[in-house]
Amino acid sequence: MRIADKIAARQTFSFEIFPPKGELPLEEARAVATELAADRPDWISVTYSAGGSGNSANTVPIASSIEHELGVTALAHLTCLGSTRADVDAYVSGLADAGIENVLALRGDRAPGREAIDFEHASDLIEHLRASGADLCIGAACYPEGHVESPTEEESFESLYKKQEAGADYLVSQLFFDNEDFYRFREKCLRHRVRLSIVAGIMPFTSVKQIQRMAFTCGASIPAKVVKRLVLAGDDPADQARAGVEYACEQLVDLAANGVDGLHVYSMNKPAVAHAAHEALLACGYLGA
Ligand code: FAD
Repeated sequence: MRIADKIAARQTFSFEIFPPKGELPLEEARAVATELAADRPDWISVTYSAGGSGNSANTVPIASSIEHELGVTALAHLTCLGSTRADVDAYVSGLADAGIENVLALRGDRAPGREAIDFEHASDLIEHLRASGADLCIGAACYPEGHVESPTEEESFESLYKKQEAGADYLVSQLFFDNEDFYRFREKCLRHRVRLSIVAGIMPFTSVKQIQRMAFTCGASIPAKVVKRLVLAGDDPADQARAGVEYACEQLVDLAANGVDGLHVYSMNKPAVAHAAHEALLACGYLGA
């Protein structure tokens, strides 16, 4: 089922996994997906390795197994930096062969040796997907704190508007640790003519190292209240993970109470984290039992 239709029908709840590299770990990703599917999310998204290297070849096989073996809608990510139109067309025909109609159209992060070939921005990819006539429901990324490369807020919203005009059906947000950033962003979208539904993305951090890495790579700021939780958790990794999951659950419950279009949990390959988020949303009444 098309994700845009799900979002139009109700507030959604979804998970994300990344396919590991190599042959054998594909089975591990399937095992993780099976555990995530037990919570009956509206969809499970499967990341894509930018530039066509690493795990990108495993995205469609895992998405296919989620969709057809586990009976949960799959969202296959696709990045376009370093890809040609022919690469994208081959991927799209792989999606059609696998019976997957949901794709998240992304540019991908810049990296040495990964230059734009046929696509400069995600909006170019979305335009191409629409022009190809492929029957796809297309999601795109948005950034409550702005994208790290955007020189001004104005430009950040202008590029979001372009994604909407190119044919994106809905948006999924980058992770954030302060819900107020999301609420402000949601209001500003309307002022900038961005009227797409926005699914809020939350990542439960499970270690100090991880939160530092995320803040560095995606530019998310770490509010004082998160630092305080980490300090109180001390040096024990299990206590840090517990503090991170508790904080994320509080974020989710607050977002649920504030009328979000959907909640996406960057559960990555940690089913215990996903289950904790699911339990919190059941307890607060966002999800039916
Ligand atoms: P764009 O929309 O192209 O934006 C990139 C920058 O260019 C922004 O600063 C934007 O303001 C600017 N810009 C956009 N259009 C224009 C324009 N027409 N003119 C001028 N400037 C413009 N990465 C992966 O490698 N694999 C994944 O699976 C993956 N999944 C993700 C899922 C989500 C929900 C999110 C939020 C991010 C994900 N990423 C993933 C990371 C993403 O690839 C990076 O954030 C990347 O740097 C930007 O991607 P984008 O699609 O937002 O790019």
